[in-house]
Amino acid sequence: MIRAPFQLHRPHSIDEAVRLLSQCVQNGEDVKLLAGGQSLMPSMNLGLVAPAHIVSLNHVAGLDSIRRDGDMLAIGAGTTHHALAESEVVQAHCPILSETAACIGDVQVRNRGTLGGSIGHFDPAADYPPVLVLLDAACQIVSPSGERTVAAKDVFVDYMTTSLSADEVLTEIRVPVLPSDTGTAYVKFTRVEGGFAIVGAGACLRLNPDNTCRSIRVGICGAAPVPVRLTAIEDTLTGKAVDDAFVEMVAAAAYESAHDPVAELHADADYKREMVRVFTRRAVKTAWERAD
Ligand SMILES: Cc1cc2nc3c(=O)[nH]c(=O)nc-3n(C[C@H](O)[C@H](O)[C@H](O)COP(=O)(O)OP(=O)(O)OC[C@H]3O[C@@H](n4cnc5c(N)ncnc54)[C@H](O)[C@@H]3O)c2cc1C
Repeated sequence: MIRAPFQLHRPHSIDEAVRLLSQCVQNGEDVKLLAGGQSLMPSMNLGLVAPAHIVSLNHVAGLDSIRRDGDMLAIGAGTTHHALAESEVVQAHCPILSETAACIGDVQVRNRGTLGGSIGHFDPAADYPPVLVLLDAACQIVSPSGERTVAAKDVFVDYMTTSLSADEVLTEIRVPVLPSDTGTAYVKFTRVEGGFAIVGAGACLRLNPDNTCRSIRVGICGAAPVPVRLTAIEDTLTGKAVDDAFVEMVAAAAYESAHDPVAELHADADYKREMVRVFTRRAVKTAWERAD
């Protein structure tokens, strides 16, 4: 049950949305954007937030577009998880993002929930953040003072906290077109089918013709309040033979990086660290199997 009344605004452009947000902020009134409502509505039902104003993005045209722009994919913030999972262009050029979208929640959540909403809400158990961080994704943000581009790693600043301010709208997420020989995988550990990740791990791996590592990137959720990327070890693995020992080395580095897992009802911190090792191992192994 929604516990407190609010005023609903339905702008038809980003500029109008930003103007409305800005007015509310200036008047000292609590305001939230509404995308798919799959996180905002439960939060309101639980009484965790009670915005006086809601600015819906559902009437802003073009926020759900997916297009190739040179060596990047430009994905509208309003793109649903379902559209990302099914997109042929994303499946072809950034398959890890489609794989991630396809494992979010259930059909209803995937049909309504959006990429931008997941970033804006930033649950530390959400599946996109570690993948966006490993992809070096860039977020396009519009505010009353103009437009700025922020690296995904700088958007997720702390537990359920992003660097977006209340009068800013995330409009587009840009991810690289991955070389076709890249092996990618995102795997998650959940208590029940369709549940949030207790731990999630993504990997992108490219091989040299002699089966040595050309490049590897790994991103993890569940290891800390913000996504963890294995930057400290990624470069040192270049040129190393990719074999079971290699996979184990990455899994061990992931375990070490899981310095601050958020304990939860079904998994304490030690257990989560162990699962970080197990699921990183699975992600890297699967990426290896898929690399040409
Ligand atoms: C039953 C259930 C299961 C779920 N399972 C998973 C899961 O397995 N994995 C997972 O990752 N997620 C899961 N989710 C969360 C789901 O992915 C949500 O869709 C997502 O977190 C929020 O997207 P939304 O479009 O619904 O955003 P909303 O709920 O509309 O908004 C969420 C927040 O983001 C802000 N926001 C929305 N759009 C923008 C924007 N363009 N710019 C700036 N801020 C914006 C809003 O103001 C709000 O604060 C689940 C949700 C439910 C209800």
